[in-house]
Order: sequence, then structure tokens, then C-alpha cells
Amino acid sequence: MSEENKFTPIKNLGEFALIDRIKLKARDKNKNTIKGIGDDASVINGSKKESIVISTDMLIQGVHFDLMYVPLLHLGYKSVTSNLSDIYAMNAKPEQILVSIAISNKFSVEAIEEIYEGVKKACDFHKVDLVGGDTTSSGTGLVISITAIGRTNPKSLTYRNTAKKGDILMVSGDLGSAYLGLQVLEREKAVFKENPNMQPQLNEHQYILQRQLRPEARKDVVEMLEDMQVIPTAMIDISDGLASEVLHICQQSKVGVIVYEENIPIDPSAVEVACDFNINPTTCAMNGGEDYELLFTINAKDLPKFKNHPHFTSLGEIVSKEKGASLILKGGNSYKIVAQGWNSLLEKD
Ligand code: ADP
Ligand code: MG
Repeated sequence: MSEENKFTPIKNLGEFALIDRIKLKARDKNKNTIKGIGDDASVINGSKKESIVISTDMLIQGVHFDLMYVPLLHLGYKSVTSNLSDIYAMNAKPEQILVSIAISNKFSVEAIEEIYEGVKKACDFHKVDLVGGDTTSSGTGLVISITAIGRTNPKSLTYRNTAKKGDILMVSGDLGSAYLGLQVLEREKAVFKENPNMQPQLNEHQYILQRQLRPEARKDVVEMLEDMQVIPTAMIDISDGLASEVLHICQQSKVGVIVYEENIPIDPSAVEVACDFNINPTTCAMNGGEDYELLFTINAKDLPKFKNHPHFTSLGEIVSKEKGASLILKGGNSYKIVAQGWNSLLEKD
């Protein structure tokens, strides 16, 4: 066997299996560690009435964002909101963040201030305090790493592994737009590279561009669920696409699911752009990612509370594990759900 064959390329495993391997090295020793690796955020015992929820995410220039079309203000905002989304996914409220940055000498003080203006706007909207971080240099490009801390009543916590057969699968907002926004930005970037005098055609795509460039974490969903007195049986945020997140809930809860294509909420403007790009809008919702909506399951008895609710859609139902995860297409055919998702580990050589 040659030397190089002894090592497994990471792309053979993929991001999620790699995390599973890492998890094998983690043995929680403290009784206050309630939830370690494996959910949207870790949970730490605070008091009887309060659990602490912590999540961290890293964004790398060239992998997660392209400064050719991402304004620095939006980058700062999105870095925070994408992180807070994981705290909301635990049905908790974020209160503090720590922001670490690695910068190359290409960046000016003003550029960093602009990013932090975006961070501030997100902190103000979500009523979160920036309480620390780290600043270091990078060889090339910009790296932003954010840790978010939130709190909730232990009884309100929503994990990925607690969905039950018979539960209803729900989602907030609409799906697929962020991916289509990215397609428009990439297309206009390619046109610009060919001909720098061409003006980008962005005006008509405001909704999907905003969904890509300045997504909002669903603070309001956690507040609405509280008002409706609904504690989801499981919850996850949609960062990698509906398919990937549905499978996380199914695998961790040891259940199956039926999702009805006709129920998947997609904004009409996204459907239009998908057709322009010759992509099936359902594929964008299933595999696009970065929508930062909340996907959750509820006990069927709570379903009437969501009737005609403008922010929520029922996608399907949780079934037994043996039935697997399927998408019932509009024509009635059944399709096995597989996760393609965003996978930066697989996308890059
Ligand atoms: P999300 O998409 O919700 O941010 P991830 O897929 O990034 O979730 O992470 C899933 C789980 O794996 C989380 O509990 C996260 O803390 C953990 N995790 C991810 N990467 C690592 C790592 N390098 N070391 C330890 N835990 C990790
Ligand atoms: Mg998440």
C-alpha cells in the first residue's frame, strides 16, 4: 500500500460523518454538560429554571462568502444572524456573542469597522451583547468566527432527537430563496468579469437577494411559539437545506417522515427565478440551504393552533423509522429524501 492510501480523504466521509468521528473523542465528564456535540447548540445546566445554550460557527472568505458581491455591512449582520439561528433552533433566546476575526493586511480599519457596524445592527435587533472575541492575522482572506450564548427554561428546550411518530412537521417562512439569490449574484459576477462595464441586473430580485445577503434569524418564531404555548417536540434551523435538516431530525429521533412537495412554501419570485435558471424550485428548497428558517415537529393536538397562520406551514408527518424519509411529489410519486445540502468540505478540493 502506498503512503497516501493509508489516509482517508475527508470528502469520502463528508462533514456530518466527520463530526460523528470527532464526537467519538468527546466524553462529557461534567454533570452540568446536558447536551454535547450533535445539536444546533450545546446545553449547559444553569439552574432549575434556566439552561444555557451555546453555539459557534466559522465563516471563511472564498468558502462561505465572496467579497466581490457581499457588502461588509451585510457580512457582519449575516455572520451574527446565522449564528443566532442555532440558538433559536433550541427554542432559546440569545443574549451574548463573542466575535473572533482573522484578517490579512489587505483589510483597512474602515473595512473592519463596516463589518462591526453590521454586527452591531444584528446585536441591536436581537437584543444581544457583544461581550468579547479575538483578533488575529490571517495569511490570506478573512475569517469570522462567532460564538453565541442564549438561555431558556429547561422545559422549553427543543432538541433534534425527540420527534415522535404521529407528530406533524412544520416550517416557518419560505424556502429556496437564499440559494436562488446566490445564483443571481454568481451570474452577475460572471457577467461583470467578462465585461466590467456591464451594470449588474439586481433590482428586480430584491427579495431573494435580501434572503441571501441579509438573512434574518427567526427570533419572532420563538416568540410566537411561546405566545401560542407550543413547545415543539423537536426543532432544527435550516442552514443546509430542507432535505439535510429533515434527515438530521429523522436519524437522531429514529423516525421516518413524509413530506408533501405541494406543501413546501416557496416565494413566487423564487419560483420565477428558478424557472429562469432551469432549476426545479423544489430542488432549491430541498437542497439550497441558508434560508435560516426553523423546521420543527409538533404534537398533532397542537396543529389547530397553526391553522391559516401566515408564518407557518405544515409540510407532512413523522412516521415510523421503517418507512424511511420520503417526499411525495405533486404527481403522487414517492421519492426517497437524500441529503445533498451545502457541504463546503465536499465542494472544495
Ligand atoms: P449547525 O449546522 O446547526 O451549525 P453543525 O452541523 O455545524 O450544526 O454541527 C453539528 C454539531 O456538531 C454541533 O453540536 C457542533 O457543535 C458539533 N461540531 C461541529 N464541528 C465540530 C468540531 N470540529 N468539533 C467538535 N464539535 C463539532
Ligand atoms: Mg443549526
